[in-house]
Amino acid sequence: MPVVLEKANYTYMPGTPYQRQALNDISLSVEKGEFVALVGHSGSGKSTLVQHMAGLLSPNSGQVLADGISLIGKKPENIAARRKVGIVFQYPEHQLFAETVFEDVAFGPRNMGLSEEEVDERVRQALAFVRLAEDGFGQRSPFRLSGGQMRRVAIAGVVAMRPDYLVLDEPSAGLDPVSRNIFYEETRALHKETGAAVIMVTHSMEEAIQLADRLLVMSEGKIILDGSPGEIFRSNKKELLAAGVDVPDIVALGDCLRGHGLGVSENCLSSRELAEELYAMLQQRGGSYA
Ligand code: ADP
Ligand code: MG
Repeated sequence: MPVVLEKANYTYMPGTPYQRQALNDISLSVEKGEFVALVGHSGSGKSTLVQHMAGLLSPNSGQVLADGISLIGKKPENIAARRKVGIVFQYPEHQLFAETVFEDVAFGPRNMGLSEEEVDERVRQALAFVRLAEDGFGQRSPFRLSGGQMRRVAIAGVVAMRPDYLVLDEPSAGLDPVSRNIFYEETRALHKETGAAVIMVTHSMEEAIQLADRLLVMSEGKIILDGSPGEIFRSNKKELLAAGVDVPDIVALGDCLRGHGLGVSENCLSSRELAEELYAMLQQRGGSYA
C-alpha cells in the first residue's frame, strides 16, 4: 500500500503580496519498500512536498492518503494514518530537547501510548539501528555528543515510532564524510530490514545514485521527472540542467571521455565502475598497467 498525493496544490500566504504556490497539482504514489530520492533546486518545493506526505501541511486542494486513509483530519483513523509516516526535518539535532538520549528517543513512542516495556524495547532497537547502542549511551546528554551523533539520535527518535514511510529532509547536510558514510550504511540497513519506504530529499546526486532506486526531480512546485536515477541521468540531461539540477560528476566525466572518442559505457554511475571500464579498455589496447 502506498502514500498518495492526488492533485495536491499548496500556496503559502495566499491573498498577500508574498503569496507563493509551492505545490502545483502534484500527483504521486510511493509504495512501501521503495527508496526514493527527491531533488530540485532550492525553493522548488521539496520540503513543502514532504511535509504534505507526513500530514504536517494540508493541501489547499487535492488529497494526501496513506494506505487509502486521508492524513488530514482529527478522526482516530486520520491520526493513525499520520503515524504511518515519520519525518526527520533538516538539521533535526536542533530539536533534541531531553536530558538524556534515552528520554529523547522515547518521546515519540511514549506519545503513542505504548507501555514502558515496549517503549524501552523500541528505544534500544532504534539506538542499535543508528549504532549508538553501547552501554550507558542512553543516559548521556544529547547535547554533549558530536554533531553526527546528535543527528543519529534525532533519527532514532523517528525510527522508534516504526513508521512504514520514513521521510528524511536533507539528512546528510553538513555531516562530515565519516558521519555521512555511517548514515548511508544505516539508512540502507534500515530500509532493507524494516521494509519501510524511504523518501529522501537531497542536494547530492551522488547520494541519489548510491541509495535510491527511484528519483523524483522537482521544479517550480511540479515533479518534472520520475524514474530510475541511472535512466534519468543518462537520458534527461537537458531537463535536469533546465531545472537547475547538476548531473553527477561521474556522468559528466563519462560524457567528456566519450566526447574524446573513448567508448566508455553510459551505464557507469560510480567512480569504481568507470575506473574498471577504463582499466579494461587500456588493457585491451595492449599496455601494461598492472
Ligand atoms: P525546497 O525545500 O525545495 O527548497 P520549499 O518547499 O522550502 O522548497 O519552498 C518552496 C517555495 O515556498 C519557496 O519559494 C519558498 O520561498 C516558499 N516557502 C517555503 N516555506 C514558506 C513559508 N513558511 N512561508 C512562505 N513561503 C514559504
Ligand atoms: Mg527544503
